[in-house]
Amino acid sequence: MDFNIAVLPGDGIGPEVIAESVKLLEAIGKNYNHRFQLHNGVVGGVAIDNLGVALPKETMEMCQKCDAVLFGAVGGPKWDNPKAKVQATDGILELRKGLSLFANLRPVKVTPSLINSTPLKPNIVKDVDLLVVRELTGGLYFGQPKKQWHTSSGRQAVDTMTYSEQEIERIVRMGFELARNRFKKLASVDKANVLESSRLWRQIVTEISSSYPDVELNHVFIDACTMQLIQRPGEFDVIVTSNMFGDILTDEASVLAGSMGMLPSASLAGLPSGKTFGLYEPIHGTAPDIEGKNIANPIATILSTAMMLRYSFNLITEAKAVEDAIETTLEEGYRTPDIWTEGDVKVGTEEMGSLVIQKLKY
Ligand code: NAD
Repeated sequence: MDFNIAVLPGDGIGPEVIAESVKLLEAIGKNYNHRFQLHNGVVGGVAIDNLGVALPKETMEMCQKCDAVLFGAVGGPKWDNPKAKVQATDGILELRKGLSLFANLRPVKVTPSLINSTPLKPNIVKDVDLLVVRELTGGLYFGQPKKQWHTSSGRQAVDTMTYSEQEIERIVRMGFELARNRFKKLASVDKANVLESSRLWRQIVTEISSSYPDVELNHVFIDACTMQLIQRPGEFDVIVTSNMFGDILTDEASVLAGSMGMLPSASLAGLPSGKTFGLYEPIHGTAPDIEGKNIANPIATILSTAMMLRYSFNLITEAKAVEDAIETTLEEGYRTPDIWTEGDVKVGTEEMGSLVIQKLKY
């Protein structure tokens, strides 16, 4: 089959980790008889330096013509001036908005071989295999009014938390669909004891749940959820939540896995199916402290590529083969420095990428 992929490496370690995914796609294409047509584009700091904007029109148009986008990371000290007119990170925000990517999926799985790399006790994290589904284009981050102003008694500011029925329904349905294909448990996280938008969220979740009798639904308050994620993370399957709550929960959940270098993500424009357009990226940033040293962990990006194979191309066997190859590589003791412990074999970015390809079973 033929697939068109927009490849946007970005800045810092972005190009280093993306290079490993490109190698992997070439191997998968050759061995499973697919044609992955890769189209390179610029975004972030490198685009600001060359073209004066974080997301050039040509890059956006190319992404719109492709079946999926593979994204590295953007930003770095050179462009991190909050007073600058253009921010490198505007590149990813504009892409998400322009491509209508309303759902952000972040799986967190603690593999047995890395159980000692997490800051929590092994018995707490041993069963962690959860997926946070965060609403990405609405809620508090985009609601209007949103401003600061001066009053006679000092400065004042407002942000608006607003959700329409349609916005809630599409993300909640995605949560139920994903839970149905996993362990059939959905936790809907809100603050319905205080917020009106959360009350509407909870009503809609309850209404939709009648179409998913096979999925066990729990309503959880955001404050209780932050505690449970640390105390009993293994009890969660799919968590569906609004933009701001999801932003906080995904960062908290990422700690469970031990390293930023292990965590993938997908941002989707529709329900997961064989034709869902999506942008796939590691959750980490450009890691300027390790840029150019060939020590960045490419696994988060490789796992994001596996998500692309699964959600946008419906290549389930190929996605599973990649995930299994990563597991085998880790079981055999190969580690990049961020996940290395005494007795493991230390490898660099390129070697880790090559090892995963070597372990692929066709
Ligand atoms: P970061 O994720 O880049 O790095 C945080 C820490 O994790 C660093 O110590 C880094 O070395 C380590 N790390 C991250 N990825 C790693 C990997 N693959 N392998 C090994 N170690 C890894 O976050 P930061 O330092 O807060 O941000 C750096 C820059 O990245 C900033 O300019 C920020 O704006 C940008 N950023 C971009 C995105 C994005 O493009 N989506 C996301 C977050 C941050």
